[in-house]
Amino acid sequence: MLEYFDALINGFLGTVRWTWKSILFEVPWYNNYFWGLILISLVVWSFEILFPWRKEQSIFRKDFWLDAFYMFFNFFIFAIAVAGIYKLLELGFGALGIGMDSLAVISLEALPMWAELLVFFVVLDFVQWLTHVALHRFDIFWRFHKVHHSVEEMGFAAHLRYHWMENILYKPLKTIGVMLLGGFEPEQAFIVHFVAISIGHLNHANIHITWGPLKYIFNNPVMHLWHHAYNIPSGKRYGANYGISLSLWDYLFGTASIPEDNPDIKLGYPGVEKMPPNFWRQLVYGFKKE
Ligand SMILES: [Zn+2]
Ligand SMILES: [Zn+2]
Repeated sequence: MLEYFDALINGFLGTVRWTWKSILFEVPWYNNYFWGLILISLVVWSFEILFPWRKEQSIFRKDFWLDAFYMFFNFFIFAIAVAGIYKLLELGFGALGIGMDSLAVISLEALPMWAELLVFFVVLDFVQWLTHVALHRFDIFWRFHKVHHSVEEMGFAAHLRYHWMENILYKPLKTIGVMLLGGFEPEQAFIVHFVAISIGHLNHANIHITWGPLKYIFNNPVMHLWHHAYNIPSGKRYGANYGISLSLWDYLFGTASIPEDNPDIKLGYPGVEKMPPNFWRQLVYGFKKE
């Protein structure tokens, strides 16, 4: 019993310590997600200011500060809050004989580094695409995902405005993805994580990027804006363009739709006016049916 209590406390304290050391630059630069997130945000924000797609949109658009807070909440505060519980689960599964390597089908170690990272990136992105489809398809999940879709003026920081329950819903499939790949992240996984944060920021940014012919592989702001459209493109019942970093899955599975290249489409969803405007009320939103 004591062992479980220890895991809970150590998981929590370990994450607090790691976050604090990151703030003080006491961790390797490539593992510093605190300052990494700030740096990527400042770069993408500068692009928005220099080359805005919606020229009349304010630099501090509607809910800018709410979204900026969400970035730190979802990445750090929430991670600290649940770290102990995840450690506890790991220990519990281990006691049942289920380890991170029990599902391994591909051994990443046998691959050259670039292929290892590529497989890791593609598998994780697919798993997240699938989770995202489920968030739209099932009402019990959609209630939480509405927080992300309550964005009415789009900008980079909207990327990380999402209900904390999404962290929990994404976790099992992401873990299974890592388990299939041998049970641990490649040593250079930080490259994949930073690339994914950058693409996610760009997808939500007020910048006109389409990637030309690469648009069939990579998601982009024109495509993702239609994911946030108030009026779902015709023929797509639950939504279109579920892609996270890659647009590939939407083209493969027929869920891609870009009716026009238009920066000014109405965003949100029918009923968006019922979304509480402040963080604390959004925190407890979605647990009961409206
Ligand atoms: Zn969505
Ligand atoms: Zn989005």
